[in-house]
Amino acid sequence: MELKLYDTLTRTKRPFTPIDPARVRMYVCGPTVYDFAHIGNARPVIVFDVLYRLLRHLYGAEHVTYVRNITDVDDKINARAAEEYPNLPLNEAIRQVTEKTDKQFHEDVAALGCLPPDVEPRATEHIAEMKQLIERLIAAGYAYVAEEHVLFSVPSMPDYGKLANRSPEEMKAGARVEVAPYKRDPTDFVLWKPSKPGEPAWLSPAGVATPGRPGWHIECSAMSWKHLGETFDIHGGGLDLVFPHHENEIAQSRCAFHTPVMANYWMHNGFLQVEGEKMSKSLGNFVTINELLKTQTFGGRHWPGEVLRLAMIATHYTQPIGWTVPCLAEALTNWNSWKRIVAEVDVRKSAIQPDNEIVAALADDLNTPQVLRRLHEIARGSQRREELRDVLYDSLVFLGILPDELALADDVAQKIRAEIPHITINNNISPRLEGEMKKFFLTLPASANSTATVTTASILLTGEPVQYGFLDEWTKYNPFYISTSDREYVEKVIGIAKLNRLIEDRIKARTEKDFEESDRIRDELISLGIVLKDLTGRPVWEIAR
Ligand SMILES: [Zn+2]
Repeated sequence: MELKLYDTLTRTKRPFTPIDPARVRMYVCGPTVYDFAHIGNARPVIVFDVLYRLLRHLYGAEHVTYVRNITDVDDKINARAAEEYPNLPLNEAIRQVTEKTDKQFHEDVAALGCLPPDVEPRATEHIAEMKQLIERLIAAGYAYVAEEHVLFSVPSMPDYGKLANRSPEEMKAGARVEVAPYKRDPTDFVLWKPSKPGEPAWLSPAGVATPGRPGWHIECSAMSWKHLGETFDIHGGGLDLVFPHHENEIAQSRCAFHTPVMANYWMHNGFLQVEGEKMSKSLGNFVTINELLKTQTFGGRHWPGEVLRLAMIATHYTQPIGWTVPCLAEALTNWNSWKRIVAEVDVRKSAIQPDNEIVAALADDLNTPQVLRRLHEIARGSQRREELRDVLYDSLVFLGILPDELALADDVAQKIRAEIPHITINNNISPRLEGEMKKFFLTLPASANSTATVTTASILLTGEPVQYGFLDEWTKYNPFYISTSDREYVEKVIGIAKLNRLIEDRIKARTEKDFEESDRIRDELISLGIVLKDLTGRPVWEIAR
């Protein structure tokens, strides 16, 4: 299958030919770790995760290297650290801020169904490579030292500005505001700058006496070089990074290595607007990933990470995206109906082979709107053709819209096997097995089909489904998809024992034709956010959406 990608540098959509198909290489600019990531930051993480999954599918997982850096040295980090921990030494305060933010970022993007990249280099661990690049640039006449700074000389590179498609005059006009006096040309940019006492500082390159720290752009040139080489296949990031960040990365890398290109394909995702406006703290429409996942500030409810992901890929990555409550609500409705369809799939038979048409749509420059149309088609078809349920499940797992239940179950089974080496199932389950299983049941990821995962883990362990008391309670009136977050919700508002009791009371009331009582129970549950549906002649509870 031919993969085609839109390349910002050549402004064409063209066939993707890797430099080495046995080692396909992608670099994506990662977060600066000083604050919660907002939903705009989530867009490139999701878009390039979809591309990563596609590349792994096409070339083999072991033949793809995805590098996403972490910027842990930056003026914004210093400022935040001084503000948040005024009583700590600055370097200690910085460590607190970056560690906390880093952990938060990883939790957030994992909840969005994103795979971890193969390498996540940190800027502070690549200072030596940055200094080497700077020395090379000075030696070749592309950079100079002035007032303890090292600057890249933009006029020394004739085709600077090609990525952003800007002429030297335009760039000069843009740079004229407050030009530092030590710059030879207003467009020159910083490779290295002196640090004030107390600020993070390293021995400077190029004979500069004052210890200093790198400029932001040089970080990515150094880290991509270290982990992917002088030239690699794909460089990605948000549209806001085209100029100056990526333009400067290209200048640094190409001039240091004397190469015609830094990366063969430059991919940029479009902007994200919240409820029709550019997101900004002053407008009060600044939404973090964490708020969407954990609080009810957006649309009066919290949203599963996979639903945020689904809402994000409903728009083609190059297009601007409008982030609105109705879009999220639509994604949630689709997600819930698909979950119901795949709830009865035997995941042990699944090899996660996505539908061919879905792969073909992705191979056409990540045509995710087409992917969604195809998912609907498969879901509709599955009413008549049962095997399409498996195709739907495989495709949703492949796209990161559902967790891989078999992998989760296998993980649980392995952990239990390590705890209990000899598992025997006679007529009684050992309390130890039940205890261990319950422990994992309670800690599965938010969107996992938790009851089904436990059943699958049991089959993997013992060759047969095992009756656990705790599981029976949960599956009694919901044999379908109970995610960890559904379970937590029920526990919070009513508890499973009481929920089951109310359902039984209602069955009894209906048998006795006491419709007043039956309606009262229904209304009580609705007021708790739980609805009863009559499926297969038996009531099934669901969290109201
Ligand atoms: Zn970068």
